[in-house]
Formats: sequence, C-alpha cells, structure tokens
Amino acid sequence: MSTYFKDFPNDEGFFGPYGGMFVPDNLKAEMRKIADAYYRISKSHDFISELRQIRKHFQGRPTPVYYCRNLSERLGGRIYLKREDLNHSGAHKLNHCMGEVMLAKYMGKKKVIAETGAGQHGVAMATAAAYFGLPCDIYMGEVDVAKQHPNVLRMQILGANVIPVTHGQRTLKEAVDAAFEAYLKDPENTMYCIGSVVGPHPFPMMVRDFQKIVGDEAREQFLEMTGELPDAVTACVGGGSNAIGIFCGFLDDADVKLYGVEPLGRGEKPGDHAASMTYGKPGILHGFKSYTLQEADGTPMPVYSVASGLDYQSVGPEHAYLRDSGRVQYVTADDKQTMEAFFALSRHEGIIPAIESSHAVAYAMRYAKEHPHGSILVNLSGRGDKDIDYVVEHFGTGTNA
Ligand SMILES: *Cc1c(COP(=O)(O)O)cnc(C)c1O
Repeated sequence: MSTYFKDFPNDEGFFGPYGGMFVPDNLKAEMRKIADAYYRISKSHDFISELRQIRKHFQGRPTPVYYCRNLSERLGGRIYLKREDLNHSGAHKLNHCMGEVMLAKYMGKKKVIAETGAGQHGVAMATAAAYFGLPCDIYMGEVDVAKQHPNVLRMQILGANVIPVTHGQRTLKEAVDAAFEAYLKDPENTMYCIGSVVGPHPFPMMVRDFQKIVGDEAREQFLEMTGELPDAVTACVGGGSNAIGIFCGFLDDADVKLYGVEPLGRGEKPGDHAASMTYGKPGILHGFKSYTLQEADGTPMPVYSVASGLDYQSVGPEHAYLRDSGRVQYVTADDKQTMEAFFALSRHEGIIPAIESSHAVAYAMRYAKEHPHGSILVNLSGRGDKDIDYVVEHFGTGTNA
C-alpha cells in the first residue's frame, strides 16, 4: 500500500476501473493542461511552503482532535472528533479551495469559476479568491439562490460575483453546465474549481491531495493523545472529499477500519435517499465513472437528503475503488438517526455539527454502543450554524429529543 498515492490514480486518472476523463475533446485537452501544471507546481518548494503557511496562519490548522467524554460515557465505546468545524469558514471545504485557487494563481490565471448548490462550496471559493485577490464567478441555480439566500449574501460580501442560472431545473446540474461553459470560453485566463473529489481527472486527485492534510494531522494527533491508533474512522460521504481526506491518513493501517456514511434520507425507495454506493450501479456522470443513481437511459435519478450538501447522484471514483477493494465499508444513516445525533452532540458536548457531519456522528454513536471497548474517530466536517433556521423550522430546538 505504501506506493498507493503514486499508483492511484494512474496517468489517465483511473482508480481501477473508475474515474477517467469522460468529457468532449476540447475539455479533455484543458483538463490535461491542468493535470500537467498540477504535477509540476504542487511538488515545488514554493507551492508547498506557501500552502503550509496558509494552513497555519489563515486557516488555523492543525484543527484539534477532541475526545467526547460525555457522549462516550453514555454510549460505551470512545468517540473522538477531528474538528474541521473549527477550520476557517467553518468546514473542510476551504482545505481544497485554498489549494485550487493557489494553483490557479501559480498558473497565471486571472479569474476563478465555480458552481455551487447549497452555497457551501461557493462561500469557500469566495473566501479563497478574496485571499488571493482573484475575481470569482459563482454559478448558482435560480432556485438555490432563493433557497440559500444567506450564503448568496456571504459570497457577495466576500467579493464574489454570483450568477443565477435560469434554465432547466435551475439547480446544481444547470449550474455545473453553465460554469463549464463559461470556463471553456476562456480556458487560458480562467480556472474551473470543483467542489469535491468528483468530475474529470485531475480533480478527484487534486482535491484528495489537498484534503489529505486532515488524515495526516488526525493520525499523528490521535497517536499522541492515546498512544495507539483508532479502531475505526468514519466520515459522511456526499461527493466524498472530507471522507477521502481523513481516510488517506489511515489507508496503510490495515487494522484501522474505515466507514463512509451515506445519507439514507427518508428510506430506501428511489428518490428518498442519496446513497449512491449502497443502491447505485457503476456508470458515467459529470465526466467520470463511479457508482451512480441513474435511470436505465442514464438520466440522473432524483435524490434527497436532510443535508443539502450530501444530495448528489454519484460519489468520487476513488471511493468506488476503495469499496470494491474492501478497504472501506459504506454504511448509511437516515434523517431520523442523523437528527438524533445532531441534538446529542449539541446537548452533551456543546458542539453544534453540520447536518452533513451529523450522519457520521450517528454512525459513530451506533459503533460506540456496539463496541464498548472500541474507539472511533469522526471527521466532523463542518459546524451547524448554517443549518439552525432549517432545523428549528422542521425539528424545533430538540427539547423532546
Ligand atoms: C459539502 C459538505 C459535505 C459533503 O461534501 P464531501 O465532498 O462529501 O465532503 C460534508 N460536510 C460539510 C460540512 C459540507 O459543507
């Protein structure tokens, strides 16, 4: 396994049969240019040392590993959190956005372009673009612009240009198409920055490499705290960036079990969940091959999750590979278990988690009950401040939870 990061992906961007660049030829040529620049620039001393400075002084890394004493004593086994909610801007996403925008700067690009659904990627991109002094265009479906208004305002305060997309369903898919279209009009001067370990090569590799810091830090911190490695590591899986980030630190440790948690939503009926690996099949979507939730003719199925950051019809190709190889197991948490975990962490530890991250907390609580002598480390991918209004409207303040 020690050459894993050199071998996966291969030069064509494949993790076993998954990944690749399933895009039109003109876009493929641009993706190859980004890949070549990435291989060259990301290994340079200047790039590495500047990113290290940013991690420390701007983002506030390393984020702590925290032992949940109260929750653990109630449940049995020991639960630990890697506190990505304390990363600047409140989630893990800034880890890869700072890397992507810095790469754009080193490549001499004049502007960065991205899509956003719920707005979290847009906010992280706007933050990174402000830091590097680059203009930033964020494409967002008109429906999402209305639904996620506070995030639109955040992006605008940070200086980003939010462009509503008014055709089709006016949500994430159309936003992705519009962002790619804008990028292809001027690939010399602009850079497209994707929001997770998805899309055509080299994005799944680049985003993974920028998120790997989470796993590397967590492994060292956990060892220092406890003198051993955790029995298990878990993270929620939407596109898969926060999960791959923490898993990367432990892939070589065969005794550490890895669990990715997919959103089961309202249940296992199609349209009620977004569990691409649990219920999907291998297929091609958005330029890469992976497990997907698609109709027989290739149309993406409707998906649902209580966490807007997890409702995606596919998952990063490296996760598909890690699933087939058996190294990572993929499990689910439904809305009810997730909201119980949301309130439990808030009440018993004083930490309000993002609803996305609460899926992983729900699995950790299950694991702790079943393994009274075990330990499990959760990637707490983000804080829940953004979810407060939604939670109170649908679930109250949890007094009866
Ligand atoms: C976007 C988001 C996710 C889902 O994205 P991944 O790429 O699967 O990590 C999870 N947690 C938080 C807090 C997010 O903002």
